[in-house]
Amino acid sequence: MARPPLDDRGVPYEPVALAELALRADSQADRDSARRLQGQLKRARHEITPRWTSRRILATMPIAAFIALVCIPTFLWLFGGSRGSVLLAVSALAVLAHKWFERRLKVERLHHGVGATIVAHGFCARCAYSLKGLEAMPDGTIVCPECGAAWIAARITRPHWTGMHPPLAEAPPHLPRLLFIPPPLVNDARGVLVRRMDSWLLSVRPDRRQAMGRERVQRLRRALRKRGRWLRWPLAAFPAVTSIWLLAQFTHLDGVDEQWRVLIAAGIVIPALLLACSSLVALLGEFGIPLSHFARTAEAEGVCAACAGELAPADAAGYRVCITCGATWRAPTEPEQRTHPPA
Ligand SMILES: [Zn+2]
Ligand SMILES: [Zn+2]
Repeated sequence: MARPPLDDRGVPYEPVALAELALRADSQADRDSARRLQGQLKRARHEITPRWTSRRILATMPIAAFIALVCIPTFLWLFGGSRGSVLLAVSALAVLAHKWFERRLKVERLHHGVGATIVAHGFCARCAYSLKGLEAMPDGTIVCPECGAAWIAARITRPHWTGMHPPLAEAPPHLPRLLFIPPPLVNDARGVLVRRMDSWLLSVRPDRRQAMGRERVQRLRRALRKRGRWLRWPLAAFPAVTSIWLLAQFTHLDGVDEQWRVLIAAGIVIPALLLACSSLVALLGEFGIPLSHFARTAEAEGVCAACAGELAPADAAGYRVCITCGATWRAPTEPEQRTHPPA
């Protein structure tokens, strides 16, 4: 059971139900904003905890077929029947355990992210009351007059009353999705759900990339992809080597009947191609690059890890807000400068 999120005075609260988000609004403009946020959060929830729709089953089928028809037979062929089965069972268990932990982490992220996202848009996360025009208390928090929940005023980075509506859960751009690196929804430093950029910056708008300049883009890309490359190379090497080994089997086709030869050739070439593709995906993918690395690297470059927009200077607590999308990132705390006594 996940712990309930806390408001900014440490009081546990249950985030307002998404269905009730627009019920408290007392003006048409507030209602429209609340409805828009409701739609965005519903899409985010659907993306983070997807249901087994017919479309998803259909999309999963080719992957399942690839594993069943190519990966498993290749594995058994390489390692032999009994040893192969044990190795296969262990890998399957490892994958399942990884998936389970990943899902738990995502649900936790969503659970804590919903409230932070609602507050970032200027609504109370507990009762959906609009926080527009409320004064902050001396401790920097705004207290909701409706339910008493307290929110740090600096959390409101996408206020609904300004008409600024940076999209939150728009679908990941096509190009990174095609390359199997769809940028995921993550929590920014204040917990708000934002879509982080991909490590090749393909998800960053072209005009923004242009504004950043070629040199800065390349520097950021290099710094992002530096992390985890020692994990990605061996990961990519395994299917690549298997693919080459499969192609080498062509040398054994000499004595084979003409009619069988075409069939066997297809049986070699298609899996070899698929394995080569999965090797490329592993190499160009983002395995081994944690979110903290994205946040830290982008912040060092002065840009937002979600949209690559420029970051405002750090506030007293070290938080930097993106001028374009309102995502917040935390400047890493500098180790205190040691003062050396003069020699
Ligand atoms: Zn409230
Ligand atoms: Zn941004």
